[in-house]
Amino acid sequence: MVDYVIVGAGFAGSVLAERLASYGKTVVLVDARNHIGGNAYDHYDDAGILVHRYGPHIFHTNSEEIFRYLSRFTKWRPYQHRVRAVVDGQTVPIPINLDTINSLYGLSLDSNGMTEFLAKRAEKPLAITTSEDVIVSKVGRELYEKFFRNYTRKQWGLDPSELDASVTARVPTRTNRDDRYFSDAFQSMPLHGFTRMFENMLDHPRIKIVLNTSFREVAGHIAYKELIFTGPIDAFFNYRFGKLPYRSIEFEHQTCDQEVFQETPVVNYPNDYLYTRVTEFKHLTGQKHPKTSIVYEYPTAEGDPYYPIPRAENANLYRQYKELAACTPNVHFVGRLGTYKYYNMDQVVGQALTTFRHLTAQTKAQVA
Ligand code: FAD
Ligand code: UDP
Repeated sequence: MVDYVIVGAGFAGSVLAERLASYGKTVVLVDARNHIGGNAYDHYDDAGILVHRYGPHIFHTNSEEIFRYLSRFTKWRPYQHRVRAVVDGQTVPIPINLDTINSLYGLSLDSNGMTEFLAKRAEKPLAITTSEDVIVSKVGRELYEKFFRNYTRKQWGLDPSELDASVTARVPTRTNRDDRYFSDAFQSMPLHGFTRMFENMLDHPRIKIVLNTSFREVAGHIAYKELIFTGPIDAFFNYRFGKLPYRSIEFEHQTCDQEVFQETPVVNYPNDYLYTRVTEFKHLTGQKHPKTSIVYEYPTAEGDPYYPIPRAENANLYRQYKELAACTPNVHFVGRLGTYKYYNMDQVVGQALTTFRHLTAQTKAQVA
């Protein structure tokens, strides 16, 4: 009998597989896809360019523990992510910063000037509850409409007023010229890509990887002591309380004959087109190549579940599944889909490391 079956070879499942195997446990890691890495999977496309199959993945964290842990499996390429948005025919920095305002309005404000500029426009909602409140309370309605309202409607199929504040709160506003997308202490890309990092992580004699196989196919065939499930929690329970809504994306990958497609790694299109953003991978990876590969992201309602949708009614539905999970013995739910949380990679790693500590504390308690 194997100690653990882990469903899903993304960050949640792979970190737990590595930790448990290193702790002496035997692990069978199952994924329905034909590769490890989950949504962080990258590969060389037909032109020989390293691309992220499921959209741009940039590693950033404030946790030294998480960064150190992953550093066991990869070297890093220092990388600061930058994004521009096309608004009113101009390509300007997002997060909104001093240069965004000066370019858009033909001004030459300094930081204090920008603070005053925003203070005149900011609205004061009674409470900051929704994704609309967050932005209008910082930059006012006009900038909200230029940068956030339509992008959010496209991305989520919902108006920002229908989404939790946490969604647009991911994007800061700055009154200086800092044009980095993230301000975390650690920002870098795995030197040889995410998939190589996962390969190193999972290279352990006590981990057996089974790809192209859904949990359903193996459920009755492998005897195990504990199950870790990192797929959608509602699917695990056969949608007993109804379906949890997820947002999906169609990724349209292209290779272009020119060396450079756009000046910045990502360009957002809040108000034009059906896609939200275009990513040029060579900017992320630093690869040199005479051609370049890009991806367009078209958000959709149907398709693989990529984004849990943060809003109160979904949190209530999730709570029912969470309660059911709590009284389902020997099954543990982890990850973005398993716990229905709009988590970044580092948060999933952190959650998996915490789960490992919890599981091994249980084992110690049982032994004692
Ligand atoms: P996943 O990576 O989704 O892995 C779950 C795995 O489980 C999948 O491989 C799936 O095939 C498998 N599975 C599910 N159900 C079953 C089943 N029944 N049987 C067998 N296998 C199953 N985070 C960042 O930190 N920075 C970024 O820049 C960033 N960009 C992103 C861009 C996009 C477009 C998306 C969608 C996400 C982005 N993320 C980013 C988030 C990041 O992808 C996630 O935090 C992380 O990959 C989640 O890991 P996970 O293991 O929880 O889930
Ligand atoms: N957002 C927006 N305009 C932008 C960038 C982001 O309205 O130019 C909003 C949108 O709702 C998006 C959210 O902020 O879903 C979070 O953005 P982020 O770039 O973190 O999204 P992710 O990379 O997770 O898709």
